[in-house]
Amino acid sequence: PTDTQTKPAQRLFIPGPTDVLPDVLAAQTAPMIGHRSDEFESLFAKVEKQLQELFFTQNRVYIVAASGSGLHEAAIRNGVRGRVLNFVNGAFGQRWHQVSLGCDKEAIRVDVTWNTAVKPEIVAEALEKALADGPVDAITVVHNETSTGVMSPVGEIAAVVREISPETLVMVDAVSSFAGVKIPVDEWGLDICLTSSQKALALPPGLAFCAVSDRVLARAETVKGRGWYFDFLNLEKSLQKSTTPATPAISLMRALSVQLDHIFAEGLEARFARHARLAQKAQRWAVERGFELAAEEGYRSHTVTNVANTRNISIKELNRHLATQDMQISNGYGIFKDKAFRLAHMGEVTDQDMDRLFAAMDAYLARQGQ
Ligand code: PLP
Repeated sequence: PTDTQTKPAQRLFIPGPTDVLPDVLAAQTAPMIGHRSDEFESLFAKVEKQLQELFFTQNRVYIVAASGSGLHEAAIRNGVRGRVLNFVNGAFGQRWHQVSLGCDKEAIRVDVTWNTAVKPEIVAEALEKALADGPVDAITVVHNETSTGVMSPVGEIAAVVREISPETLVMVDAVSSFAGVKIPVDEWGLDICLTSSQKALALPPGLAFCAVSDRVLARAETVKGRGWYFDFLNLEKSLQKSTTPATPAISLMRALSVQLDHIFAEGLEARFARHARLAQKAQRWAVERGFELAAEEGYRSHTVTNVANTRNISIKELNRHLATQDMQISNGYGIFKDKAFRLAHMGEVTDQDMDRLFAAMDAYLARQGQ
């Protein structure tokens, strides 16, 4: 964001939903149009092209009215006939495993210690072991585990999967990194890369996006029980006509169009660099205040920093204090609820926003005599 005049200070330092710029919010209030109209077709074609650029892909990008979990389900229903390997190093890897089981697939869960990354050698070992019992249709892995602030090297993971088992599809959840971290889908060979609107894209919740390779469509032809709403073959037919099978979320797509223009105006490289810089800043703040970083070194997220609560502060009280200045951070996830706190720096957050947050957090720590 370049125009500080129109960008209000950020309120939400939680890992989604994130603050949405005023003109993006306002775009949703425009009157309805028919979704079988020329106007909608051109809106759709415009955002489709911009999304392909943002995914660094020549593959199609499906736009669905759902949250990210909907696309977890779509990926499994379309790409898996029999067996899928779910790598679980946090809550959202676990979610994808539950979705796989819910879709009645033979889902093999591979647990990786939380707060650490899924690494290529872990994937290679688990895949080779699973292949001994028959083919593996796909692997699922979360690029940026929002629950722990860990980023896994999905490009390297895709490379080892290709080498060991070329027919195994590589499915990546980029829900909390996409548009904040560069994910070159084609260069890395990701068959599915999915995300949702309410994180680093800085849009209201309700839309989800998925870059899908030809290999996935070829697989889908052979998979029974794809359902209807998320059937990629259905979505593909509509995409050819710049539309969607069911009524699209027109207002959200208008917001998407305005926000994509902001993103390209900032410049993709500048946007990715801003997120990396803010992550460094958050890590530095935490360490200088005597906290430890929870996520494994070398794999720390650019969009959310997971701080181990080594000073044993009350995160609830801290948030009460921040609320007096209309700001909010997140506690740790699940069992880490009081043991960690998470500072999200994704979307339209600036250095000034982070400085304002840290000033308020410092004031709270000083008041506690801590
Ligand atoms: N994957 C990751 C990494 C997430 O952070 C989330 C939500 O926080 C999800 C999946 C689920 O996405 P949604 O809430 O959009 O369904």
